[in-house]
Amino acid sequence: MKRRRRHTPPTRPLGRVASHFTREGTPKNSYRTQSEAQGAAQLAWTLHGVDLNTYRCDYCFQWHMGKNFRED
Ligand SMILES: [Zn+2]
Repeated sequence: MKRRRRHTPPTRPLGRVASHFTREGTPKNSYRTQSEAQGAAQLAWTLHGVDLNTYRCDYCFQWHMGKNFRED
């Protein structure tokens, strides 16, 4: 069995910081204001029919969109 060892995987985000990254480990699009993020979420709904939440990120202090993201 071959294992890739040359490429180290992207740093796994920890805990709440995970909300800053996509599943692929790349940073999500960020928005400076909640209304910008909500506008983008609404556009995604209009174009793709996907329901996205917006939340403020503890990592970059900007806003992101997320699918099925829990708001507590
Ligand atoms: Zn962030």
